Amino acid sequence: MFGRSLFAVFAVVAVASGCGGGSDSHASIVDKAKNDKKLVIGVKADQPGLGLRTPDGAFTGFDIEVATYVAKQLGVEPSGITFKETVSANREAFIEQGQVDMVVATYSITDARKQKVSFAGPYFVAGQDLLVRAEEAALTGPEALNGKKLCSVAGSTPAQKVKSEYAKEVQLQEERTYSACVDRVLGGQLDAITTDNVILAGYAAQHSGKLKVVGKTFSTEKYGIGLKKDDTAGRKAINDALEKMFSDGSWTKALQTSVGASGFTLPQAPQLERY
Ligand code: GLU
Repeated sequence: MFGRSLFAVFAVVAVASGCGGGSDSHASIVDKAKNDKKLVIGVKADQPGLGLRTPDGAFTGFDIEVATYVAKQLGVEPSGITFKETVSANREAFIEQGQVDMVVATYSITDARKQKVSFAGPYFVAGQDLLVRAEEAALTGPEALNGKKLCSVAGSTPAQKVKSEYAKEVQLQEERTYSACVDRVLGGQLDAITTDNVILAGYAAQHSGKLKVVGKTFSTEKYGIGLKKDDTAGRKAINDALEKMFSDGSWTKALQTSVGASGFTLPQAPQLERY
């Protein structure tokens, strides 16, 4: 008798924790959005035009626009979104640990990252470039990096590329954020920053007359929306949302209002890679 009722209690607990709960780590982002009407989204906080926290605590930029559109398609209003700052090095961990439901943070789709998380997209294609002080004349591309002090961010694809391809010529300083790199180049301690051209364009516009983008890209960076590795339903739903954003004009409008101000040449929407 006692044994049977104890079994019943266990059964009820197992069922209650196994389904319907928004905090279940195995649930798809689709279910979480539908049930809780809330999402936590990892974004950058220091990249003008892309992901920037303003003094009043709000977030602005193209990644924010994309995140907000996708959330809405999943059934979550802007008031249900919590933006959480991510830096390049903690994006996979934040997704794996469930600290965020998705990441929209200039996040390149790579095979190495696909071992840990999955990606919807791409929703934008950038390329690695260099940012230097406005008066710099000699640093005209990656081939001119010899003996230079270069800054990039730990856990980013540009830093990885410099380590694997230019390590002999250059002294690489890895910071936690790109804005920390910007400070060091403006201060004269370092010579250049390397990361995606669209990120660099935002800093060049912010420090107009002091910094310039070299304008010679040397990689292809396809920005994806990162989510849990096994969430196939979530990936499909986010891809559907992006497809809609591309086709209804919202994508172009968001790009113009956020990135357009930097003077960056705006591309066409990319082809989604549904895998
Ligand atoms: N897109 C590159 C990456 O995901 C560089 C930009 C960044 O660090 O966010 O690593």
